[in-house]
Amino acid sequence: MLDVVIVGAGPTGLWLAGELRLGGASVVVLEARLERDRNSKALTIHPRTVEVLDCRGVVEPFLAEGLRIPNGHFGGLPDRLDFAVLDTPYPFTLALPQVRTEELLEERAVGLGAVVRRGCRVTGLTEGGVVLDDGEVVGARYVVGCDGTRSTVRAAAGVDFPGTDATTWGWLGDVVLDDPPSRGFTSATGADGGLMVVPLPGGVHRIVGGDPASNRPEWPGELTLDELRAVVKAIAGTDFGMRDPRWLSRFGNATRQAAAYRAGTVLLAGDAAHMHFPTGGVGMNVGIQDAHNLGWKLAAVVTGRADEALLDTYHEERHPVGAALLTHTRAQTALMTAYTPEGQALRALLSGLIASAPDMSRELAERLSGLDVAYATGRRVSDQVLPDGGRLFERLRGGGHVRTAAGVVRPDGHLA
Ligand SMILES: Cc1cc2nc3c(=O)[nH]c(=O)nc-3n(C[C@H](O)[C@H](O)[C@H](O)COP(=O)(O)OP(=O)(O)OC[C@H]3O[C@@H](n4cnc5c(N)ncnc54)[C@H](O)[C@@H]3O)c2cc1C
Repeated sequence: MLDVVIVGAGPTGLWLAGELRLGGASVVVLEARLERDRNSKALTIHPRTVEVLDCRGVVEPFLAEGLRIPNGHFGGLPDRLDFAVLDTPYPFTLALPQVRTEELLEERAVGLGAVVRRGCRVTGLTEGGVVLDDGEVVGARYVVGCDGTRSTVRAAAGVDFPGTDATTWGWLGDVVLDDPPSRGFTSATGADGGLMVVPLPGGVHRIVGGDPASNRPEWPGELTLDELRAVVKAIAGTDFGMRDPRWLSRFGNATRQAAAYRAGTVLLAGDAAHMHFPTGGVGMNVGIQDAHNLGWKLAAVVTGRADEALLDTYHEERHPVGAALLTHTRAQTALMTAYTPEGQALRALLSGLIASAPDMSRELAERLSGLDVAYATGRRVSDQVLPDGGRLFERLRGGGHVRTAAGVVRPDGHLA
């Protein structure tokens, strides 16, 4: 019998698979899709995730291929958050399409011996494993649901997913622009709506935004190029010469969190544990960091190096981080969809404060970047030179604990 079955080969499941192998657990990832979705939801990798990649020795391709952006935004406010002030070797966000991030994470997981089986849709749980839609049972001591917001594992385990339904819808188009904005990245927000234009690899731009007509609970229907063109023109005064859509999509602000991240031998991570409006570009980052917290613990338990009670600390440590994520994205959603004169005044006021109050800007940047996360046991430890001359992040690559002057650092980079 396997130690662990992971359901879902998204970024969360793939990072977890690598972490479990590093810790000596046997693991299979079951993925419903035959092929990876080529449309990338996420583009933004935040500083703490880049640190996590460094702590496992796999950061180089991400740094080589990702576009470094030295600032971030809060709720699309025009004054941007300066990431250069952050205490990290990586004071920037990396723009890299999610499809490429997943390819790199899968390479790492498979390189460490994880098996990824595609075309395997899990339909339920059994005593000691999962059932696939063709009736096959895959036995494992633990099951981790990394199967996204509609998680089958979460439902089968009977874990509640309380929260709120969508009240507003964003839209996005990955399109060719004949007349792109002169600055690579641009944003505009006013009474007619708000949008951002971001260059993607392959001569395509992403236009993402929302408008007052999208502030309603009903699903507005599939997005068409004509609709996108009209709304973008109303907001920005131009449609940037858009044509040849590669992907047109909408996303809502339904906001929910799993009541328990652990139900006996079933655990939940990533979007299966939390869903929210994708403002600030953080969901995938928090999912990878969930996996980073869970991986070494679950590996230690299944290999007999730790008591099962260690798994309860996964919920205790990561549930509050997920709750803070929901608060944060709700606040940003309110700002992004504040199209009334009052809302515009609030945006102007807060934007001005970001520009004039460096402490506030830094605080928001720390939260977005994931660098502020602290557990009851200890805060994240910055990279540092150890007494023997080595670098902490390099020493963590083996996946073990490391002794520093400040105390023992856990495999996930937090003080023990
Ligand atoms: C428009 C948009 C932009 C975004 N931008 C960003 C960003 O810039 N930065 C960021 O951090 N986040 C961003 N996000 C959020 C990010 O995309 C998600 O948080 C991330 O994909 C979550 O990863 P995951 O592995 O937890 O789940 P998913 O990526 O949803 O992966 C789940 C996997 O499980 C599989 N699966 C589902 N059910 C089953 C089953 N029954 N059996 C087997 N397999 C199953 C699915 O096929 C899928 O491959 C964005 C989201 C959207 C919608």
